[in-house]
Amino acid sequence: MKKNGKFIEFICQKCKTKEKIPTEIVEMLDASDSIGVDTDYPPRFNCEKCPGKMVPIYYISVHGKIHEYKEK
Ligand SMILES: [Zn+2]
Repeated sequence: MKKNGKFIEFICQKCKTKEKIPTEIVEMLDASDSIGVDTDYPPRFNCEKCPGKMVPIYYISVHGKIHEYKEK
């Protein structure tokens, strides 16, 4: 079974900036988001360079769901 590494790589949907976020921080956010929140969506971060949102390129959520970024 594939596992998350030490860092999760995030990409901005708008400007395509990439950033590595420590997996424990992502999982903490993911777990705290879980009450009454749609688990179809991975944790997201605000991009520092534009008003876009950063999403994980590949991340296995604490609920066991795989979130994969796909170019549109
Ligand atoms: Zn951006």
